[in-house]
Amino acid sequence: MGTTASKATKGVRSETLRRSNLAAIFAMLRTAPSVTRSELVEATGLTRSAVGSLIGELVEYGLATETGAQHDGHRGRPSAMAEIDGTGLAALSFEIGVDGVAAAVVNLRGEVLDDARASRTRGPVAAEPKVDDLVTLANLLGYANGMVGDRRIVGIGVAVAGTVTSDGQRVVMAPNLQWSDVPLADLVSARFGAGVAVTIGNDADVGALAEHRFGAGGGANNMIFVGGEIGVGGGIIVEGHRVHGRSGFAGEFGHMPVNPSGDVCGCGSIGCWETEVGERALLRRAGFDVDSGDAAVQRLLLAAQHGDAAVLDALAEHGGWMAIGLACLINVFDPEIVVMGGMFNDLWRYVEDVVTSDLARTSFGGQERPGVVVAGRLGNSARLIGAAELAFQPLLNDPVSA
Ligand SMILES: [Zn+2]
Repeated sequence: MGTTASKATKGVRSETLRRSNLAAIFAMLRTAPSVTRSELVEATGLTRSAVGSLIGELVEYGLATETGAQHDGHRGRPSAMAEIDGTGLAALSFEIGVDGVAAAVVNLRGEVLDDARASRTRGPVAAEPKVDDLVTLANLLGYANGMVGDRRIVGIGVAVAGTVTSDGQRVVMAPNLQWSDVPLADLVSARFGAGVAVTIGNDADVGALAEHRFGAGGGANNMIFVGGEIGVGGGIIVEGHRVHGRSGFAGEFGHMPVNPSGDVCGCGSIGCWETEVGERALLRRAGFDVDSGDAAVQRLLLAAQHGDAAVLDALAEHGGWMAIGLACLINVFDPEIVVMGGMFNDLWRYVEDVVTSDLARTSFGGQERPGVVVAGRLGNSARLIGAAELAFQPLLNDPVSA
């Protein structure tokens, strides 16, 4: 009896191990353009034949392809090149922001295959009409019955400008949409059919995920992502892991108190970083209407591009306030890289010099690492790519589920 039980346990363990090795190889293939078998052997510590059989399995599921054997330099033996396939699969991702909604079809390499956007006038909008907008965009992208063209949609990911429960199902609070406790995943699911899983995430968190895996973060083990529009938030990756915090709210950088005599923040506190570096603060400094939104920010950036002195002064002052919060983040987390996303990405070229010179003084060891803060590389696709990652996550955890 005892022997049988222990054999069964052993069987389960080796199956678990095989699946976890499969997931590890799949993860490596996704972020590298192509890898040789030898490189996979080296990175995983598995035998050549074990790697070969795992790749064979990924090929069978339509998740990888193998191309002809190539000499990989230092080795004598030619080694087959493996790369991600997934041409039959995609994720459908959505973004619900304050100024509108966006949708994209994203492949397993984190590439946007097609996208669509719709803007809305700012102001409180109930969740249901927002979900209607998502359905309209999905139709525009050709979504029908779990497919887009000949690609099967493995899941739906939604980035939302609010805090989200750790199971990725409900919006806890979205102050700028005036939502509280919205069962968003269920609402989306009801419109897209029960067969497609829906996962939601905070927009800054998923932006961080995308820049970390496919963008400027380059897989750094210690990375901070700062995203900003009207609100300012971010994501923290420490030793390769995302920091969630007790309630999943870690990364609410916008509410670090930086100015005791500053403005009242939407959160009820005074002088939060958001009140000094958010969209309203930028518009106020440049003499624009603070509630005129992203369109005004674009006009402001155009003026900066034409050398408008008042706007450039406002941007320099803005950069000074950005550096104050960034110094705090750098001194607390000692990151390899800080990636600026959202609005900060757009204005980075105008504030980079101020931020860099301030940080040389105020951040610990700042003079030794002048390039620690960089602009994001994925631009306004970061959140859509990150939301797609949420949709792909079950497949990444267990490629057998393909
Ligand atoms: Zn606040």
